[in-house]
Amino acid sequence: MTRYAQDFYEIPDAVESESELRNRILELVESEPIPGKATEGGERVNALREILSEFFDGEISLDQSIQRISDDLPKHESKHAHNNRVFPEDWDERLARTQISRFYNQAVLLLLQENGEDQCFIPHSDHEDRDSSCTIQLAGGTADVNYLLECLNRSYREGEWHDDVMIPDHPHCTHTVTPVET
Ligand SMILES: [Zn+2]
Repeated sequence: MTRYAQDFYEIPDAVESESELRNRILELVESEPIPGKATEGGERVNALREILSEFFDGEISLDQSIQRISDDLPKHESKHAHNNRVFPEDWDERLARTQISRFYNQAVLLLLQENGEDQCFIPHSDHEDRDSSCTIQLAGGTADVNYLLECLNRSYREGEWHDDVMIPDHPHCTHTVTPVET
């Protein structure tokens, strides 16, 4: 039986023990669009793909991934470097967390969809932000697999930002998608 992460911090253990899930994530990291102003231009997206691959391969930690983002995608090389909305102080951590969560949850949702599952479960996380929409509307309950995947793809794949609640719902979202317990 596949062990799924019950929250963001369990992602490294889950991908280490589940090679099918890990391989799926690595395929997505290599091929899926990563829209966003912070990664625009030069080799920034490719540098990020490399860092994310190393994270999901278990070679580097979350903290190391954050450091690598600030080293390998230097803010000053971006044409948006002056824009504090694109580069808030913790932009490197926000980018690492967002994309780690996005790729993990995207892979889980795709696998559930392929297995014919209509519903998924979003466990409460010990680290969740009590006031976030995802905590209030999704955590502790089931959700529609196709709908969550569509919301995730619209934002993180197409770069079309919307207000529909989804996973991850914000850069510090610690929720993950799991199968419905039977
Ligand atoms: Zn959340």
